[in-house]
Parts: sequence; C-alpha cells; structure tokens
Amino acid sequence: MQNDIDRDLYEILGVHRGASADEIKRAYRQRARECHPDVAHHDPAAEHKFKELTFAYEVLSDADRRRDYDAYGLEGLRRGAGVDFNGFSSISDLFDLFFGGGFAGPFSRGRGGRPGGPLPGRDMEAVVRITLEEVADGTDKEIDVIRMATCGECDGTGLMPGTHMSDCSRCGGSGELRTSRKSLLGTFVTSSPCPGCNGAGKVIDNPCGNCSGAGLARVSEKISVSVPPGVERGDRLVVRGKGEGGLRGGRTGDLYVAVDVEPHPRFKREGMNLRAALKVDMADAALGTSVDMPSLNGDFPLKVPAGTQPGAVLRAKGKGLPPRYGGRRGEMLVDVEVVVPTRLSGEEKKLLQALRDLGRKAH
Ligand SMILES: [Zn+2]
Ligand SMILES: [Zn+2]
Repeated sequence: MQNDIDRDLYEILGVHRGASADEIKRAYRQRARECHPDVAHHDPAAEHKFKELTFAYEVLSDADRRRDYDAYGLEGLRRGAGVDFNGFSSISDLFDLFFGGGFAGPFSRGRGGRPGGPLPGRDMEAVVRITLEEVADGTDKEIDVIRMATCGECDGTGLMPGTHMSDCSRCGGSGELRTSRKSLLGTFVTSSPCPGCNGAGKVIDNPCGNCSGAGLARVSEKISVSVPPGVERGDRLVVRGKGEGGLRGGRTGDLYVAVDVEPHPRFKREGMNLRAALKVDMADAALGTSVDMPSLNGDFPLKVPAGTQPGAVLRAKGKGLPPRYGGRRGEMLVDVEVVVPTRLSGEEKKLLQALRDLGRKAH
C-alpha cells in the first residue's frame, strides 16, 4: 500500500473521468461508509483507504481543483499548494499534509483516551501447542511471552520518580498547533496535535531511567494458560491482563492465545471423534476376537465381531474427545484392515487348502 502516490484519483473513487458531480458524491459516500473509522476502527488499512477516498473526493468535487488535476495531475495541486511532495509515498500521506490533524480527527484518538491521559495497553497474541492427549484431558501450559509491560519504576508515567512533567515549550502547554495554509485546495486552518508533546501539552524533562520515558519496559515472562478439554486448533483463549501494559494508569491489554494441536501418530481428529486404523488377521476377522485398542486414555478392549469385512468401521462409544462445552464424549471410529498372510508354512497352507475345499463343497 506504499508508493501509491501515482494512483489515479478517479480510480480511487471508482468513477470514470467524465463522472458528474453527483456521481462523484455518491461514489464517495458509498465507499467512505465502508471504511469510516466509526465502522472499521483500529484497522490501519481502513484508515489509509478512508484518507485516500477523502482526498480524492476533496479534489474532484471542486470544479477548479478537478480542472487542475485533469490538466496537470497531482503536480497541479503541488504547485498551487506550494509544498514539496518529496518524501510522500501515498495519497493518504497527502491527506495528512493537506488536512492535518484537525481533519484526521476520528483517527487521531489512536488507542483511545485524551492526550496525556490514561492509555490502555494493546492486546497481544501468542500460540500454545498441545497434544491430542492434552485436548482429551485439558491442561495447564506455561508459555514464554515477551511483552511490553507497564514500567515498574515509574508506574507507566515515564517520569523519573520524584519529578513532574513540564509545559511543552513548542505549544505553550496547549497540546495543539494551529496552522493556516493556503493551497489549491483552499485555505485550511488546522489544529494538529503538537509534535513536540504528541498533543499532551506536557513533556518529560527527566525521563525514567528504566524505560527511557516510554512508560513501558520489555519483560520476558512465563504465563500459565489453562487449556480446557475439547479445544480445537484455532480456538483462542484469553488471559486477562497479560497484554501490553497501560500508560499513566490505563488498563493492561489482554493476551489472546491461539491453540495449535500437534498431529497425533495414531489418531486423526474428526471433530469430537477420533479415527484410527486396526490390522486384523484374516482368521480373527472371520472368527471374531477382542483386541486391546489404544485410546488417548490407555488401552480398552475392542470387540471385533465374527465376519468383520475389510474396510469395516468399528465404533467405540465414548472413546473420542470430550466436547468443549459439556455433553457426551465423541466416538472412536476404527477402520479395519484385514491382513491376508503372504508367507505360509506348510501346515498353514494345508489348513487353508482344506478350508477352501470345504467352502467349495458348501456352495
Ligand atoms: Zn519507567
Ligand atoms: Zn507541545
């Protein structure tokens, strides 16, 4: 999405070059709604798109600007505005340039809260890898997480203990800079957050030595995750308060832990059921037998009925996985493979021949 400064403004709005003012307005309204920050909040892609759309609309909805753009492209806007586009790589950067913080209002809230006030920490993600046995019983796992935690030295204020913030010299403590700019797009009086203090109006003269004033410090932590029975690959578990630390008293984010289940050498998972293969001797298949069948909780006796055919599926109730939210366990589905002997002793051969002859007489 970078280096798209050459994108055509008509294309951004999805209208043809001869579109009427009404068509342009309609196209803008429709598209802007989808990526408006109130709908798609915290999505950087949506923010980028919204700024692009708005920039395109501001240019093409004004007859004079549109004429200049049609004739000279962005160069026409650049000349009128008297600004250098070098270093701008996207249309949404131009949006910021022309409309500044005032216009970007919906986005400038960022992580929420007023500048200088409490700032909640972001949520984080991690992965926990478990075995199928652990799915069956549930487990408590420890995972290693590196996270930015609220700095313990300064409590997330970024201040050296015992010191206070002072007024920002750049904005005089108001937190905003007002600028008026004449450009082809008209005169804009914008109030943008002061870059000297990020809109807080206050700056830290004596930063905390532990976090260099950031208020957050990198910690490597072992976090225990309680994994309930029956989870599936891709399930997300929440560990509250183990995300990024908050600043200036803001709450700590949460840790979302995605479950990954290792493949099992013996069982294939099918929802709550387990699928397994079993080799049965020809004679056992014909006469029936009982085998010690492995399960996730140890062996159990499995009855192979007389006359079991190759490819038969034996079902063992309750030998599958427990459901995530209560109820009965799944089944084990056992695919029977009947093994036909390939090397026969002389005696075996004789017996089988006798068996064959008996069978022929019977039919
Ligand atoms: Zn600190
Ligand atoms: Zn300032």
